[in-house]
Amino acid sequence: MTSRRQFMFKTLPAVSLAMMGATAAQAQAAKVDEKDPAAAAIGYKHDASKVDKKKYPKWAANQTCANCQLYQGKASDAWAPCAVVGGKQVNGKGWCSAWVKKA
Ligand code: SF4
Repeated sequence: MTSRRQFMFKTLPAVSLAMMGATAAQAQAAKVDEKDPAAAAIGYKHDASKVDKKKYPKWAANQTCANCQLYQGKASDAWAPCAVVGGKQVNGKGWCSAWVKKA
């Protein structure tokens, strides 16, 4: 028969490890989908050269997420979170109409 104490010692480490795994997974935000309503509404594209230039004439070739004020990573990071798309990761080579020059 397993005592309550033995049960706790056997189960708690496994539960703790499972929770740590979930925390690590949450820290790595999901990559945003271009079709995500929040991303589509601002014309986000993973590849800035694919931006609809007729709809977004203010886009210029030197504007990418990597040099946007809202990019929450280093300019050299391939992907980083952006608050405009709910904290999901955007591509450093991407762009959206909310682009603001990094100060
Ligand atoms: Fe990229 Fe800036 Fe738009 Fe975020 S706000 S998706 S970092 S261009």
